[in-house]
Amino acid sequence: MHPEFACNLLEALSLPPWREKLDWGLHITSKWEKRILFSSYVRPITSTSTTNSYEGRAASFPHFGKLSAELQLHILGVCSASTLFQLMRVSSALRTEASKLFWANPNAYFVVDAWWLLDGGYPGYQCCDLAFLQNVQNVEIAYEPYLNRDIWPEKNGERAVRQDLITTFWNSIKRRFPRVKRVSINHSGEPRIGGGFDTVPPPLQALVQACPCTIEISVLILERQHFPSADTSTEIQPRETWQKSQYRLTGGHVWERADSRHSETILLPMRQFRGLVGRFETLKHRSWRIQLQQQGLWPLAIEALDRHHFDQGRNEPFACPWPECDAYFDKGGAWTKHAVVSHYQHAGPFSILPDEIRALFEERAILLEERRGQAKTQFSRMRDEWNNAGQEERIAMERVWTEQLESNNLGDVTGGKASNNKIWECFLEWANGSYY
Ligand SMILES: [Zn+2]
Repeated sequence: MHPEFACNLLEALSLPPWREKLDWGLHITSKWEKRILFSSYVRPITSTSTTNSYEGRAASFPHFGKLSAELQLHILGVCSASTLFQLMRVSSALRTEASKLFWANPNAYFVVDAWWLLDGGYPGYQCCDLAFLQNVQNVEIAYEPYLNRDIWPEKNGERAVRQDLITTFWNSIKRRFPRVKRVSINHSGEPRIGGGFDTVPPPLQALVQACPCTIEISVLILERQHFPSADTSTEIQPRETWQKSQYRLTGGHVWERADSRHSETILLPMRQFRGLVGRFETLKHRSWRIQLQQQGLWPLAIEALDRHHFDQGRNEPFACPWPECDAYFDKGGAWTKHAVVSHYQHAGPFSILPDEIRALFEERAILLEERRGQAKTQFSRMRDEWNNAGQEERIAMERVWTEQLESNNLGDVTGGKASNNKIWECFLEWANGSYY
């Protein structure tokens, strides 16, 4: 892993005081960015102190309806996303206000791929739940560095911005996210230029400058962290330190670094499709989630070791378990910060963990590997199902697929031709190939 992504790892981990249990369902990308499943985001909190929390008491307060509207709104304002989501579903009296607060949560952004929006945002290209998108107000856009070349291609030694692509991008956003209020473009790759305002690549600047004035736009970018000389005595001296910063373009076309940014990036829920292609997409999504959980094991192990020594009132200083490292930790959180900076590249093995927690991690790793194996078997069966099907059966399978798109009022699947969409093309390529 590249050192610039270590800052993502630090953001993905919990530091003391730990208020929630260790998250065994942690999902981490290959760039060590944390992703939250929508089902986890709205799941009732399992904090050890939930029953004593203000929110917990409010949720079970039987006289809530007798309070003044002002007081009710105040209480709703301190509820978690999961509580608001439950209220949206069970309380007709509170649904409207709870819904407003749920979708406006400034800490939670729903993530979508930039390539999809640049391609036109067609339903036949993505399996996320499009009806869900209609309510989303905060959108994080995963922007891979190769898109810079697409927006700003070089031809005969000259570069020119593809305004048509930029127009398509913003039209896609307006059409798919009609209630969008805030967009944060996450430039997730290696930065081209370290530090300063030039960190935002020119193609991305062009994209941001075309943002409609009704949307609050920002850019997440990796940049070098500069330490004041007075900080050279801090407990950890990184070899190379990066940070992820958020920049906003002001009215005067000046990039300004924001003080804070959203902390939760949530995966969009999937649409449910029938038929062979529907099952294929569901399995692909499940396999990807298993991969994210496997990538989450090492970050989780870092946090677990810290908590093993300093959580729940324990105070057991310890030496870095990594061979030939003489760091020593006498307070909670110090090991986590050290591991992120000095051992981020040593994903596993779990042999450095004490016996009590090592067994848990080894069991979890085996379980995830088994699930991955099961998914591979299911993929093979699906491929056989397609390859053993006759011509008429294949036509019927395709019809099941296209009818679902059409019945979902997804008429602009690919600009007109429903059968010729990327999901279908991807399926055929897989069925005739050998990957997975
Ligand atoms: Zn160490």
